Order: sequence, then C-alpha cells, then structure tokens
Amino acid sequence: MNNIENFSQDGYVETETDSAIQVLGHFIQGNIVAKGSKTQPVYNPAVGSKSKEVMIADTETVNYAVQVATEAFPEWRNTPVIKRARVMFKFKQLLEENADKICELIGQEHGKISHDAKGELQRGIENVEYACGAPEFLKGEFSKNVGPDIDSWSEFQPLGVVAGITPFNFPAMVPLWMFPMAIVCGNCFILKPSEKAPSAALYLAELLKQAGLPDGVFNVVNGDKEAVDALLHHPKIQAVSFVGSTPIAEYIYSTATSKGKRCQALGGAKNHAIIMPDADIDNVVNSLLGAAFGSSGERCMALSVAVAIGDEVADVVIAKLKQEMQQLQFGNYADSSNDFGPLISQAHKDKVQAYIQSAEQQGAKIVVDGRDARPKGFENGFFVGPTLIDNVQANMTSYQQEIFGPVLQVIRVETMQEAMQLINDHEYGNGTCIYTRDGEAARYFTDNIQVGMVGVNVPLPVPVAYHSFGGWKRSLFGDLYAYGPDGARFYTRRKTVTQRWPAAQVREAKQFAMPTLN
Ligand code: NAD
Repeated sequence: MNNIENFSQDGYVETETDSAIQVLGHFIQGNIVAKGSKTQPVYNPAVGSKSKEVMIADTETVNYAVQVATEAFPEWRNTPVIKRARVMFKFKQLLEENADKICELIGQEHGKISHDAKGELQRGIENVEYACGAPEFLKGEFSKNVGPDIDSWSEFQPLGVVAGITPFNFPAMVPLWMFPMAIVCGNCFILKPSEKAPSAALYLAELLKQAGLPDGVFNVVNGDKEAVDALLHHPKIQAVSFVGSTPIAEYIYSTATSKGKRCQALGGAKNHAIIMPDADIDNVVNSLLGAAFGSSGERCMALSVAVAIGDEVADVVIAKLKQEMQQLQFGNYADSSNDFGPLISQAHKDKVQAYIQSAEQQGAKIVVDGRDARPKGFENGFFVGPTLIDNVQANMTSYQQEIFGPVLQVIRVETMQEAMQLINDHEYGNGTCIYTRDGEAARYFTDNIQVGMVGVNVPLPVPVAYHSFGGWKRSLFGDLYAYGPDGARFYTRRKTVTQRWPAAQVREAKQFAMPTLN
C-alpha cells in the first residue's frame, strides 16, 4: 500500500486517503507496520457497519515476519528460563491493569458483553500464570549412574519459530492459550489472528513489548488464507497451532504435517447435555441458559443439544426454559445488563437463521424463535435471539452440523444408553455434560463417553490452565492438547543426553554387542 505515511499508537497506521476509517497494521519487530497490498473491513457487529479496516498480509509480509523471528531466536533461546518467565510475570500484571481496554477492543469487534469478555480474558491470564512456572516444568529429567560413571538426562529444547492461527470467537483467550507457553519455552512466535477481530492481538503484542520481550520474539501478521498458506509452506516454521472450524483444521493439519511440521489443529463441536430424570431441574435450566446462549452460542464449548431422558423431563425443561428465555436480554457489548451480544457477521447470521429454518422444514418444532429479533437501537446489528427447538432428530442438518449461534435443540430419548449412543455416534467430540444426582450413572458416563472434555453437573467443562484442552474425533487433529502440560510438550523437543566422564586411568574395552548392564 503506497499511501501509508507513518504509524500511530494502538495498532493503527495512518493513511492519506481515508482518514475517517482507521487501518490496523501488523506487529513485526516490535513495531506496527503497514505491509500488504489490500485491506479488509472490520465490523462493529452490534451496529452492523464497518468500523475499521485491517491490512491483509501477502506472502512477502509473512516472510518478513518469519525472517525477523528467525533472527531473534538464537538470543531468546539462550536467555535463562527464569528471565523468560519474568517477562510473563510482568505481562500478566499489564494484562490485569489494562483489562478494561482489552475487553473494550473485544466488544467493539466481536460484540461480546463486557462481563463475558472479562471471563475470557481471565481464562487467558491463567495461561500466562501457568507459563510463569516454566523454570519448574522445563527442568527436565535426570538419572545418575545409568551405567558405570554414566549419567543421563532429558531436556526440553525450543523448536524455533512457531505459528498460531486463531478464530474470531476468543480474540484474546485463544492466542493466550498459545504464545505465552511457546515464548516461555524459548520459541519465537508468529500469530495470525482472525481478520474479523484483530485488535486485541495487536494490543497484546504492545503489552508484551512493555513487559520487556525483545523485539522479533512475538509478531502479529493480519491476513487471510494467503498469510496462512505462507506460514504453512515456510520452511522455517517448525510448528503450527490452529483453532477454528473443522474443515479448515483438517486443511491446516494435513498441509502442515505434509511439510514435516508439528501441528495441533482444534476444530468445531456439537456439545450435548444429558438430563437424567433425577437431575435438579431448576439448576439444569439456569446452567443450560448460560451455556447455550452465553456469547451468543459462539463458543466451541457451548451446550447446543439437550438430551432429555423421557418425555416428562423434556416437557418440564422446555416449559421452564421457555419462561426464562423471555427474560434474556441481548444487545450492545457496552450495556452490561445484556446477557449476550450479536453474531460476528451478516453472513453468519444468515447461516444461523438457515439452520433454524432447516430444522423447521425437517419436522422439528420451533418453541422459541429468535430469527426476527431486533434489539431497540441496534436494528441493523447481526442479532439472532435465543432460540429453542424441540423434537430434533439425529438425521436433521441442524443436529449434524455446528450452528455456532444462540440455538438450543432438544432431543427426546428413553434411556441413558440411547443418549450416550447419540453422543458417541456424532462426528464431533469436544465437550459434553451429564446432569444427575446418581454417582453410578455419572461414573459410567465419564468412563464410556467418546468426548475429550466431560462435565458432571458442570455445563462448560473447559479445563483450567494447568490441565490441557482438546476434543476427540473431528474436534481435534494432532496428538497433543492445547495449553497446560500438553502445551509445554507441544512447544518443546525432547533431547536425551547420555554422558560418561571416566576416571583417566580407566580404559574401555572394545564392545560390539548392544550395551547392557548385567
Ligand atoms: P475459521 O475456521 O473460519 O477461521 C479460523 C482461522 O483460520 C482464522 O484465523 C481465519 O483467518 C483462518 N482461515 C479461514 N479460512 C481459511 C482458509 N480457507 N485457509 C486458511 N486459513 C483460513 O473459524 P472462525 O469462524 O474464526 O471460528 C469459529 C470456529 O472455531 C467454530 O467452528 C468453533 O467451534 C471453532 N473453535 C474451536 C475451538 C476449540 O478449541 N476446539 C475454540 C474456538 C473456536
């Protein structure tokens, strides 16, 4: 772009031609830079109009970021781990001090209500706290005297330059799942955030710089498929973490691994809650409301299917949900009395509405219909109101595919076995939950359900930062989960050293058999 004159604060570049609309740049080598030949609009989804532009990186821009990161790597790798951890300590403090600003940026571009954005950020900060423990979890393993005068140890070395590609729905938390761990382990990182909500990532980069991170260790390139492909094909990129929809996750995983890169690619979901006849129904209803409609259903752990055991349970739950759903408020992110905000785009709104329509056409019953919802003052926003659908069947499109909107579907079955079969047969296996007072049923469920993250009376069983996050089946491609202990393994490579320092007078005999200790 030739009309870039200079750079300003907060991720914006200044342009000569269109001063009313701010243009977000990239963050490379510690600076906001304007590179790439095109831009793309960023929307305020509550209002339904463009609020900013973001630069879209071309391959040359990505190559520049990789070069910068590659040059920063040797010094960062050799920085003592306690010093790397201290940057994370400072970063955590800055995240807390600037929480309101981060939540504001998330609200402006994603539409998430401020209390929800705070929750997202807090979950992200917990990953930074975990990363602060790197001197402990990178200590390695040591065995003295594995043979005569021989000691052996395993150490965990950084990989080099690694990349993260993240979705729109957690503009701060999902990047924070990745880069604090990667960086504290001694890697340099290139983040390609969602082009739909890029500002939070740029601001996190500024805070990392303020925390004392050397330039070039963390870089943000904004962009679309071209930037992602440039990262996937770049020979210097050692590993790729991806979070997003399943078709793209499959593409990322197959491309990255075919190029010899380590990859973890987290995909979409369809999360079921089983409601047993002995469950505390009032609690079930309250927790279903938050888990199904919070964040407008745009969470990979959202509970989108309630499986009721028996018609009696289904009828009571639906009646109570219907009543409670009249009270739900949705609208602009800045109004904290709202329960949730808009969807991310007009295209996504159209898609969610089409799923509701398909359920109706295929024979389900729309109990509460949010398709025509128009919050006052935000009539052009990308809103769909809370929607409840009964009599959903396993062969319906709305059940088989991820909707990613404020839509709760109810399936009626007769037995717990039938409910578990339904879940185990679904192509996704991210999260699930059982509501019951029966310990035996809960134990059977947790043991036999084919899902990666399981709740018992806990609707959103998102693992805390010192465990790891991942689904089964088509919800995750790769061997290691995100963050926590698996994150530390993903971003390091084991090296095992076996060392002998024999006394000078000892002479070794020639030995042609495999060495053993007899
Ligand atoms: P998305 O797959 O459209 O985009 C994710 C990232 O991939 C973005 O950075 C985007 O720019 C990039 N991308 C999009 N199309 C691409 C292409 N053709 N080639 C290369 N890169 C491409 O996902 P989204 O709409 O941003 O996020 C919503 C999805 O993410 C949902 O399916 C949700 O379930 C999933 N998600 C999963 C988890 C998890 O932990 N499993 C967490 C959050 C979101």
